[in-house]
Amino acid sequence: MEQLAPRRNLRDELKDRGIRMTHQREIVLELIQGSSRHLDAESLWKLAARKDTCINLATIYRTLTLLKRFGLVDELDLMHIEGEKHYYEVTRLRSHIHLACFRCGEIQEFQTPLFTKLCKQVEQECSFSIKTGRLEFGGLCSKCRQKERPAAD
Ligand SMILES: [Zn+2]
Ligand SMILES: [Zn+2]
Repeated sequence: MEQLAPRRNLRDELKDRGIRMTHQREIVLELIQGSSRHLDAESLWKLAARKDTCINLATIYRTLTLLKRFGLVDELDLMHIEGEKHYYEVTRLRSHIHLACFRCGEIQEFQTPLFTKLCKQVEQECSFSIKTGRLEFGGLCSKCRQKERPAAD
């Protein structure tokens, strides 16, 4: 299986764009950058509030909007496995696909050269310039499929 491409470095990318760094922004960046999970704004807020009780949800959303504007985070709905929540993750140097398990909620990430190929084909055949793209599949993960299968003896 292809290894996932490295994540962009949020702090460096913002610095390169001349964005001012505040203490609160720094906290939010660090949390998104370091998380191995796909976090929604509310969970992000709870984690941030542990480090600075003055951070409010509006600061979280403002930071996310800024990062989204520069294509540094992706906003995902992950097949709405937990209702209407949206999740955020740092974009990687190459796009990956998300597989959401409807039963246990696990999110698997998968990278394939076919994704780049698909984008190129869309751009050519639709004469469309792609700025961002996402692909998500919903179904059953291998663990849940195992449990569903009758025990073989
Ligand atoms: Zn599962
Ligand atoms: Zn992901």
